[in-house]
Amino acid sequence: MPPTFEIVYRFDPTGRHTPDPPADPAAARHRLEAGNHEFAVLLDPRTAGETRRVVRFDADDLGLPGEDGSAPAQQPFAAVLGCADARVPTEMVFGQGCNDLFVVRVAGNVLGSECLGSLDYALANLGAHLKLVVVLGHSRCGAVTAAVDSFLDPARYLAFAPSHPLRAVVDRLLVPVRAAHLAVEATWGVAAAMKPGYRRALIEVAVGLNAALTAATLRQEFRDQLGPGLEIVYGVYDLLTRQVGVPVGVPGESRFTPGLVSPPTDLTGFDHLGIAIATSPPVRDLLRG
Ligand SMILES: [Zn+2]
Repeated sequence: MPPTFEIVYRFDPTGRHTPDPPADPAAARHRLEAGNHEFAVLLDPRTAGETRRVVRFDADDLGLPGEDGSAPAQQPFAAVLGCADARVPTEMVFGQGCNDLFVVRVAGNVLGSECLGSLDYALANLGAHLKLVVVLGHSRCGAVTAAVDSFLDPARYLAFAPSHPLRAVVDRLLVPVRAAHLAVEATWGVAAAMKPGYRRALIEVAVGLNAALTAATLRQEFRDQLGPGLEIVYGVYDLLTRQVGVPVGVPGESRFTPGLVSPPTDLTGFDHLGIAIATSPPVRDLLRG
């Protein structure tokens, strides 16, 4: 019998049941990682029987007015820039409830001016509560796939070249796709492009590099506001395992390293990251076929 699970959203109007806000970026990161772990294992085939996850709310969380009629304050402890993909529900992926996360979602988690403006608002107005900015990519991303297909066959780009809205997404993804191509070529040689799994491999490497590159760009944009009280990290949500992490595994041991991490600080770091993803077990499996 396959495992079953429940996610219960429980509201108690008489008390405050949510945990205290994280005190620093490390605590915020640990809370998101722990929430994702609980979500990921809900459907783990090794989990026997029914599993229940309870997400608790208080009046502030739900945006209900207090006894004096005042509106609740917005108090997220993390801002997340994620993809619009319906398979990646941000609060559920991280096991969080209302008023915990300031979420900006756009196809390909690309950093357009509207997204940057939204995050800038969060950093400027949400005060000391905000401890972390997260860029969250995900495996098999459709927007990254469109950019990869344009890279591999420029004729496809011509099909949507007149569409400024589509180009606004795809154009921003061509740099990580090009970097993914170079990483795969440096790792596996030019013959890799002839492998049946090359397109899928390019997508997965580009997803990781895109999330890291976007996080590094945000770090540059907000450099004057970062420090011991606010950090920027990135991760990739794996649709198959429901884990958030870096698509860098250990051969024979793991396909994925769970957790949120800081982006590279220089070009050499990005080169190393690209090669690490290109040599990870999932990408190696795709290019082996
Ligand atoms: Zn996506």
